[in-house]
Amino acid sequence: MSIEYDIKSINDIWGSEKSLYSFLEAEATILCKLICGDKTSVPPIQVMPTCFSKGLMGENARSAQYDPEEDDYLPTITLFPSALTDRQIARIALSHELIHHWEQTVKDQKRVEFYPAEVDDCIKARFRDSNRESFWRSGHSRRFIAKAAEVAKVLNAPLDKMLFY
Ligand SMILES: [Zn+2]
Repeated sequence: MSIEYDIKSINDIWGSEKSLYSFLEAEATILCKLICGDKTSVPPIQVMPTCFSKGLMGENARSAQYDPEEDDYLPTITLFPSALTDRQIARIALSHELIHHWEQTVKDQKRVEFYPAEVDDCIKARFRDSNRESFWRSGHSRRFIAKAAEVAKVLNAPLDKMLFY
């Protein structure tokens, strides 16, 4: 998908890049407060064209990405056009990445890493291959999964979407 195509599709859905960013920033402010609490600052959000969504190893294109703070770089959420096809999808993708942000920044909470058994069923149903499941779990801890299940419930969002965006 070319950059021109991406920009056209964003303008078709959101009117302009400016209105897309104002939606994302307003949503992120609300969701960050809900997910990370009052004391955590909202990470900067950037939209990147689809051609940047493939990993260096050529793995499947992702819809969104979270990069934790590193040296001089702020923690950042990147959204690709496939996460921007409508408001609800964008909201879920933002929430997923904000849960990564929460995991990185809110460390002092003593949380019980418990989640209902059907959450594991949902994860198993997604990955027929146990290697793929282990790979996914290596980036999504029990703490992440428990939080995602909780956030999905609060936002009344589908659990599988919240886990796999
Ligand atoms: Zn993730």
